[in-house]
Amino acid sequence: MKKAFDVDFHQSPLLVIWEITRACALACRHCRASAIDKRDPGELTLQEGKQLLNDIRDMGTPIVVFTGGDPLQRDDLEKLIHHGKSIGLRIGTIPAGTPRLTYARMHSIKESGVDQVAFSIDASRAEAHDAFRQVPGSYALTLQGARWAGELDIPLQINTVFHQGNLDEVTALAELVADLGTVFWEVFFLVPTGRGSQLKGCTAEEMEDIFSQLYALSKTTPFVIKVTEAQHYRRHVMQQEQHARRSLANREPVEEVHASSRHPHAIGRSSKVVNAGNGFCFIDQTGNICPSGFLSEIRGNTRTHSLQEVYRQDELFVNLRNPRLLKGKCGRCEYKATCGGSRSRAWAVHGDAFAEEPFCILER
Ligand code: SF4
Repeated sequence: MKKAFDVDFHQSPLLVIWEITRACALACRHCRASAIDKRDPGELTLQEGKQLLNDIRDMGTPIVVFTGGDPLQRDDLEKLIHHGKSIGLRIGTIPAGTPRLTYARMHSIKESGVDQVAFSIDASRAEAHDAFRQVPGSYALTLQGARWAGELDIPLQINTVFHQGNLDEVTALAELVADLGTVFWEVFFLVPTGRGSQLKGCTAEEMEDIFSQLYALSKTTPFVIKVTEAQHYRRHVMQQEQHARRSLANREPVEEVHASSRHPHAIGRSSKVVNAGNGFCFIDQTGNICPSGFLSEIRGNTRTHSLQEVYRQDELFVNLRNPRLLKGKCGRCEYKATCGGSRSRAWAVHGDAFAEEPFCILER
């Protein structure tokens, strides 16, 4: 069985997320990008994009995800996927559930060699999902796209954002994710940036409750569960496992198979915590280089700067990889090197990327 990618995060991000366009026909209430309805003429061109992919590969990064906006707004999406594959990258993309999502387009994406396609589903019922995306019919189109991925044998990822409006949906969503034949469920916790700053995220206690449900699910689900922008899920899992080890100390050992071992090739797996600027880098539609889409401090531009130099040498990027700089309870925490809290949420809530994670139950 292959191991998860082993990348030195001081040298290279595990993955680069490239916002190939910000144009999108949806108006999702959590949208970090506050997506717009028309493409920006300043977007990186196909040639610039190919060069960017070469630079990412040369930096030692194995994974690139084309995000948006809606990546389907670009007719050269398949050319970009094909180029990324031709130079040895693993490539994923996140189409939106709009009329641009057709069987022909999915087939063409498959032909271009994509490794994984992700769709966003935030509720188990159409009305709730469509209200969140603010476009009727989006849920049906998204489910259709997910089923086409299955028919075309494209590994399927589902992305879900948890916030105050869907806290009670964990079980129903997990069932839906399983029904769709998903290999990878990426669970996000709201970071209040862009349009998402108008939404109410989960409290520390609510996050902990969802962590418990996800941890229990992870032992039985046929798909990998990855938690994003809640690095303290790792602390929760470590605490649960310590507790289980203590309980089992005087009993016969029980072999447990964690779901993450079932899909060794699922894109985005990492044995280390990934955080803004630490194993992760975001390129926006015009080439601006940021630690994350949620921590969108611009530290350079791919048109004028070396991506590798920015990632390795820029002061903010370097500091984001140093847990000794964390403040507040994260700075005092025994888990600071293995968790570190969401740097993006700290930045969004406190205006300081090194402040404590605002929604962790420790020290309460
Ligand atoms: S206090 Fe910070 S570092 Fe410690 S577990 Fe909570 S979020 Fe993670």
